[in-house]
Formats: sequence, structure tokens, C-alpha cells
Amino acid sequence: MLVDTHCHLDADEFAPDRADVVARARAAGVAMQVLPATHADEWPALREAAALDPGLHPAYGLHPTFLRHHRESHLALLEEWIERERPVAVGECGLDFFVEDLDADAQSRFFEGQLAIARDAGLPVIVHARRAVDQVTAAIRRIGGLRGVVHSFSGSRQQAEKLWELGFMLGLGGPVTYARANRLRTLAADMPLEFLLLETDAPDQPDAGHRGQRNEPARLRMVCDTIAGLRDVAPEDVAAATTANARRLFDLPG
Ligand SMILES: [Zn+2]
Repeated sequence: MLVDTHCHLDADEFAPDRADVVARARAAGVAMQVLPATHADEWPALREAAALDPGLHPAYGLHPTFLRHHRESHLALLEEWIERERPVAVGECGLDFFVEDLDADAQSRFFEGQLAIARDAGLPVIVHARRAVDQVTAAIRRIGGLRGVVHSFSGSRQQAEKLWELGFMLGLGGPVTYARANRLRTLAADMPLEFLLLETDAPDQPDAGHRGQRNEPARLRMVCDTIAGLRDVAPEDVAAATTANARRLFDLPG
């Protein structure tokens, strides 16, 4: 049994066959998915997508690359929304210094605002960090009292260790299946299993066997098998450990 800890199931790419995508995931052993949000206008549709199956668990937040959709009032709205909806996490939130023309100060305001909301609500955070791992780590430390995951982690071992010290987990997905991803594969091979979560980030970040195609949660098995191969253990061991981690972090049922 596997948990896809990061799937954008409400994305337009899944509009034609969303129920089939969930069924294929289930058939592949991906019994639960955490569905992070991108912006406030999307939250109702995300809630609707999550209602498709009892194994789907939404998170709500304001994604940094959707900055132009965010208003200052959306932080207060988020606080109300999570109090009512009781999601498994706050997110996706974070910092992105790769995409151009995203104001850094505005990104930080929304990110730290969401960290404070998560801390006060006792919820974990799902963090996006692109060319921003150090800045994200500093903000997490500054706000304090947090737990969560840095999804699609792509930093160094040293940066990873700083996140583990703060009790944060790392989400690994499709990129680890690429033979040339040396640093990431080395990290996946010898990082402590207690900090590892599996994710697809579907419809994005397909594995090496599906380059350029729409990704989907059923392909999480490929990520699990790859990491098991790198660690020279059985896939069942990676599945059991990462499922237990996801259950613990997101307080998932079962
Ligand atoms: Zn995402």
C-alpha cells in the first residue's frame, strides 16, 4: 500500500477521466492521496475532487507561483476555510526563486502567513521550494513549532540535514527515476527512511519512462521501486515505511 503525498488531482489535465485516474491508482496500490491546493478560487473544486473517494485528502493553501491570484485577504480566508474543512495540511505554500517576476517580498509574506496559520491550527505544512531551500528552512525555523514536508526536494544533503533537524520530511518523486539525477539518487539511497515521503506531483514530473507525458498517481509504484533499488531493499519495505510516515505526518486514517 502506498500514499501519494502530492497529487494535483483537481488539475484540468484530469478533467476528462478523473475517476479512472483514481481507480488506476487504487489498482496500483496507491490507496491514499494528499491533494495540495494552488489558490483560493480553486479550493471549492479541490474539495469536490477530494469527495470522489474516501482515500483522497485535500490540503488548502496559496502556492507561490500563483502569486498574482493571491490577495492579502486570502490569508484570513484560509484560516476560516481550514477551521471549517479540517484538511490534513496547509499547502501548497513556499518560495519559488526560479520562476521570474514573482515578487520575493510578497512571496515571503504569504509563505510566513501560512506557516503561522498552520502552526496555530496544529496542522503540518506542504512546502514548495525551488531555488529557495535555504530561505524556506530559515522561515520554518523563524516561525517555529512546525512540522511538514518539503515536496519534490532537490537540494543538497547538507540542506536536507537542516530540515531533518527541524523535524521536516522530504518528498521524492519522478525526478529520482532519472539516471542522471546523481545527487538526488545518492540522497535517496542513504537518507534516513523516517524522513522520506513518496509523491508524484501529478500531472507534472513524470518518471523517466513517461517523459513528456501526463503523470498520474498510479505511477507512484515506479518511484517506490526506484528508491528501493537504490537502497538495495525490497519495495515493500520502502512502501511500509513511507506509508507509516505519511500516516503519522498527515494523521491519515487506518
Ligand atoms: Zn505541487
